[in-house]
Amino acid sequence: MIKLSKSCISKGDKLAVKRLLDKEFLGMGPETKKFESQLENFFGRSVICTANGTSALQIALQSLGFKKGLEVLVPSITYLASYQAITAAGYVPISCDIETKSGNISIDSIKKNYTKKTRVIMPVHFVGDPQGLHKIYSFARTKKLRVIEDAAHAFGSFLGKKKIGSFGDVSCFSFDGIKNITSAEGGAIVTNDLNIIKRARDIRTLGVKGDSINRYQKKRTWNFQVEEQGWRYHMSDLNAALGISQLSRFSSFAKKRQKLAKKYDDNLIDLNEIKIFKRDYTKIVPHIYPIILKDPNCRKEIMEFLKSKKIETGIHYYPNHLLKYFKSSIRSSLQNAENIFPSLLTLPLHPDLSMKDIKYISSSIYNFFNK
Ligand SMILES: *Cc1c(COP(=O)(O)O)cnc(C)c1O
Repeated sequence: MIKLSKSCISKGDKLAVKRLLDKEFLGMGPETKKFESQLENFFGRSVICTANGTSALQIALQSLGFKKGLEVLVPSITYLASYQAITAAGYVPISCDIETKSGNISIDSIKKNYTKKTRVIMPVHFVGDPQGLHKIYSFARTKKLRVIEDAAHAFGSFLGKKKIGSFGDVSCFSFDGIKNITSAEGGAIVTNDLNIIKRARDIRTLGVKGDSINRYQKKRTWNFQVEEQGWRYHMSDLNAALGISQLSRFSSFAKKRQKLAKKYDDNLIDLNEIKIFKRDYTKIVPHIYPIILKDPNCRKEIMEFLKSKKIETGIHYYPNHLLKYFKSSIRSSLQNAENIFPSLLTLPLHPDLSMKDIKYISSSIYNFFNK
């Protein structure tokens, strides 16, 4: 079976994890500190590592310190985690429509859904492509809104000459098993706002003030103070050891993902029955490779056909405003999201695929359409 996505683990990754296990200290400690320092070099900004990407978003949102019930603008087409992080932090998600050409949050929809209760915009860099982000920041500046970027797909991507996470307000990343680098489970908050860093660092250790500093030195905090709701959302050294090893391999992962996506583009651009997203793979590191079927009625059939050819496919994403729990997030028409969703189909993309695999997958799609 050609997997839709997978963790890519080398001998070096396994050795790094084994070395950490041999230390018999698995909690948050010096290894997590080291991973944070390396990520700080990567982004040129302060970094707080967390248990996963969802908790990075939740903690970053909570650290902003707005009152419960205030609103966060978020695209409807995103992973469920973006929405659950918003409600977990006590805020209200408001679903915005997407731009059909990129799958990213639409600036027109942001303007339409903005009210006096809006405090945050959460753009999601769908696939890893941050196009449109400048417009969001300029609107946020005029209304004095905070921006928490859900950059879970965009590790290593650039907007122009700037790396995602190296500029802007707050960027949150995920290192789950299938992301551009993995720590098995893990996430990171990246920002220049030292108030957020200070607060997020305590929130992730159950709100225990200053606990991280002790834990970095393998020490416990016996006398402590707590001033707000915290969560047990820190990263463990075992996860950090894998993250460090994966980070050292990132440039080869990036090149491979870019090369494979470019190859899909070249192979599929002439097929009339589908549309491809136009993206600049010299700037972005794609996390997934979705295409748009011109006839949504064939999606189930093509997924089954490809499965019979031992090719796994997926759907990114079901619109969150159509989920029962988030139905009150709708304030205006979400036409683009509802139109595009039935046509979305994601093809396999991970660094262990070969160019031959891409050729086989592409020609299987041509075969489905009898070409
Ligand atoms: C993966 C992902 C997350 C959450 O990250 P986890 O590490 O799985 O908790 C959030 N948003 C998007 C868009 C993601 O793809």
